Amino acid sequence: TAPADAAKAAATTADRTDGAAPPLLEVSGLTRDFDLPRGSGRGRTLRAVDGLDFTLARGEALALVGESGSGKSTTARLVLRLDRPTAGTVRLDGVDLASLTSRQLRDSRRRMQLVYQNPFASLDPRFTVRRIVEEPLRAFRIGDRAERRAEAARLLDLVALPARFLERRPAELSGGQRQRVAIARALALRPDLLVCDEPVSALDVSVQAQILELLAELRKELGLGYLFITHDLAVARQLCDRVAVLRDGRLVETGPTERVFAEPVHEYTRELLAAVP
Ligand code: ADP
Ligand code: MG
Repeated sequence: TAPADAAKAAATTADRTDGAAPPLLEVSGLTRDFDLPRGSGRGRTLRAVDGLDFTLARGEALALVGESGSGKSTTARLVLRLDRPTAGTVRLDGVDLASLTSRQLRDSRRRMQLVYQNPFASLDPRFTVRRIVEEPLRAFRIGDRAERRAEAARLLDLVALPARFLERRPAELSGGQRQRVAIARALALRPDLLVCDEPVSALDVSVQAQILELLAELRKELGLGYLFITHDLAVARQLCDRVAVLRDGRLVETGPTERVFAEPVHEYTRELLAAVP
């Protein structure tokens, strides 16, 4: 058995006595402290994320909602293991990411991809769209030149951009088109989960709606799951099955979207909802 399979089997049997398949993503007790510079006047460390528990089933869309500074981006980085938690675990299909070798971790990254807020900052301005969307395939040595070309065309089609855009550079694209390219790149390795960190916040409202529609379609078409990070409850409502409300690094309320909107349990959720037009 390959080491990854053995680790997976061990984690699965150790953690599951009910015989049920583990959720795609399972976050427990997730905590991240940051050291603060001396003289910042706030104590020595900041607990940016404080004991988060949540799960995400395959194909599910969970919104992580919170105001600026509540710990959303820190959570995204921890889930993708771009950063390490101070305490707590992130499991992908029952396997603790902390138990993986760097090679296994690299493989697990094929299954979870990040889409950032600012598509311009994340797209190299020197490269054509073709090069940008083929990059993950090159990095993982997938396919030959012809196969990568075909795949690039397929990816552009998935995000509803015409094939002629393959020869353009990011500066020649609108904000919405750039975000489509960023999504196409994130889909290149056929992940199960996209972690979207405020993917529409930098876009005009009409363009926001188009990108949200695209994400909803991709979900139907590909069975993709989302950890969808936003400060905007209205956006969460449009796309997500469940909502988790984050305040100062803690989850104050998690539930089905309609329930959270109709009958918010926590006072803070009510405040956030009151601010939604
Ligand atoms: P959000 O994405 O919800 O706006 P962040 O996760 O970016 O929030 O930040 C949460 C808190 O952690 C903020 O107070 C932020 O200043 C702090 N923080 C984030 N990253 C770092 C870091 N690398 N070093 C120190 N503090 C950080
Ligand atoms: Mg953020």
